[in-house]
Amino acid sequence: MPMVPKQPFNDGRPYHGSEAVQNGRLTGTTDTDHFYFFCPRCDGRHIMRVMNYEVREERMGGTTYANEEPRSEWDFILALKLHCSKCTLTDFIKIGNLGWQGGELPQRD
Ligand SMILES: [Zn+2]
Repeated sequence: MPMVPKQPFNDGRPYHGSEAVQNGRLTGTTDTDHFYFFCPRCDGRHIMRVMNYEVREERMGGTTYANEEPRSEWDFILALKLHCSKCTLTDFIKIGNLGWQGGELPQRD
């Protein structure tokens, strides 16, 4: 099967998660060890599709939290494009180890 070159994430356009996914509105869970995101607009636990990803940052570990042991092996941020097939919400989130890495997450209003 021929490899198709990966297109720029979000067609090269800027992106950022909307209010729909901020401040704890986006939740999810695992079944086995696979994580699923639940649509923040739909009732119940309607699973969102992960449409694409981008490696936003990637570098040798232990640079951001240099005084924390054990040090991370690799520092990274991934951006995910999520889509709900039920309500058509399309949104973005980021996950990685350069943000909060412990303690209590402060609640924002
Ligand atoms: Zn939805």
